[in-house]
Amino acid sequence: MYDVLIIGCGIVGAAAAYQLSRYQLSVCVCERYNDVANGCTKANTAILHAGFDCPVGSLEARLNLRGIELAKEICEKLDVERISMPTFIIAYDNPRELQYIEELYRRGVSNGVQGLRIVDRDEALCLEPALNPNIKAALYAPGSGIVNPWEYCIAMAETAVINGAQVKLESEVTAIEKKDGYFVVTTTSGVYEARYVVNAGGGWSAQVYELVGGHGLHQTNFAGQYFVLDKSQGEKLHSIIFPCPDEHGFKGICVTPTVHGNLLVGPDCYEAADGDHVGTDPSTLENLKAEGHRSMPGIDFREVIHEYAGVRPNTQIPDFVIGEAPECPHFINLAGIKSPGLSSAPAIAEELETILRGCGLEMKRKEQFVDSRKRIRFRSLDEEAKREAIRKNSLYGRIICRCETVTEGEIVEAIHRPIVPRSVDAIKRRCNAGMGRCQGGFCGPRVHEILARELGVSQQEILMDEQGSFLLTSVIKEQQEEETANENRV
Ligand SMILES: Cc1cc2nc3c(=O)[nH]c(=O)nc-3n(C[C@H](O)[C@H](O)[C@H](O)COP(=O)(O)OP(=O)(O)OC[C@H]3O[C@@H](n4cnc5c(N)ncnc54)[C@H](O)[C@@H]3O)c2cc1C
Repeated sequence: MYDVLIIGCGIVGAAAAYQLSRYQLSVCVCERYNDVANGCTKANTAILHAGFDCPVGSLEARLNLRGIELAKEICEKLDVERISMPTFIIAYDNPRELQYIEELYRRGVSNGVQGLRIVDRDEALCLEPALNPNIKAALYAPGSGIVNPWEYCIAMAETAVINGAQVKLESEVTAIEKKDGYFVVTTTSGVYEARYVVNAGGGWSAQVYELVGGHGLHQTNFAGQYFVLDKSQGEKLHSIIFPCPDEHGFKGICVTPTVHGNLLVGPDCYEAADGDHVGTDPSTLENLKAEGHRSMPGIDFREVIHEYAGVRPNTQIPDFVIGEAPECPHFINLAGIKSPGLSSAPAIAEELETILRGCGLEMKRKEQFVDSRKRIRFRSLDEEAKREAIRKNSLYGRIICRCETVTEGEIVEAIHRPIVPRSVDAIKRRCNAGMGRCQGGFCGPRVHEILARELGVSQQEILMDEQGSFLLTSVIKEQQEEETANENRV
């Protein structure tokens, strides 16, 4: 019997597990994918929003502001890449846009966002020379930042596991039965019992809610596609740029650096059937270019190295849906966590703690709570530290990913961490191998071999990413050799 069973291990489920693992509670997280951070958390803009555009008085506004404060502390303690960086909402000489930034300014001030200013064209260009020089003014928000969204999620999930939580992958929750004082949760990996159940199902949270008879949520998923550009473009920009929304209220195409030094352009917005609809297509992507150039004319789209899409887990309710389900006591929804969900996640987890206390769950602090995590990023070490790392473990002397300078030592270390990666992309999310210009063209086969060797399985069992994404189907050469040997014997 678990005290708390969390459904979903995106950023919200991971933050919830991390928060609860401070207490003397048995916590289990069931995730339907074969890795954590594989839903919406894997494909977003990775911005820690300053909080100026959330509706005044909303849960989103409060949790966004608290979340980005907590993010500073958590990223520092758990060694997650985060960079503070201002946001510009740019306005052209157009009354609608100029009024919009004034309104955003007032909203931000009401939300308690610090440091907001409306700056004129010259000051904006002085602060960020990459901006389009034709703008008239901009809302300047210095309190935002960017983060590595996978590492943020993985780090919190790993720390929860180190502190006793269990993460069960490939465990899709298919039924929940309410008994007297506890739940029986059926998953694709087994049946578990828990006193409290938390719905952190992202784009599937309405369906998860339906498993306990909840019918008040309708999932309306909106997808968005992105271009990822080489570091040659990322180094041109040191801020996050948004245009003003169009007449239909669409937020517009963002241009932002990533923590790895690349440039992102996107996302657009169109309705998708569900959270799994993450395909990209050339005609949709083509539309991003003009919008990207309108914010930052210097982008060279010949430097695109990758494309991806994410699906926003919206519901018909314009705010986050957080609280104990009225029709099912002790079942707590952390549902419909659309943007700024990445920014708000640790604050959502604090909110969960308060709700669970209110429901009667006793929480006693653990005497020993491990709240730190370190990993070697060989590329960013100085020469002496590099030599020292290689002296201690020669695997740090073998570069596997040449584009991103990722060593075999980092890959092996990632494989032996508390949540074991089993695919080439899971390694990419943990230590960047395959993220560079060649997108794994050189290092992919090496990573594949290392995974099989370290996990003690055949190479045929290693996946590209999700369940079923096998890279090799059968051994050809050995079969041929065997057949020739047989023929010779005949
Ligand atoms: C295009 C886009 C851009 C965004 N940009 C930003 C941004 O810049 N800043 C920001 O703050 N936010 C942003 N967001 C929002 C942010 O990404 C989300 O709010 C956040 O990732 C939601 O996290 P989650 O854990 O709720 O969902 P997810 O990451 O989707 O996790 C939910 C998990 O639940 C699992 N699950 C579902 N059903 C079941 C089941 N039955 N059994 C077991 N597991 C289940 C899923 O497999 C999934 O892993 C953006 C979102 C999108 C799509």
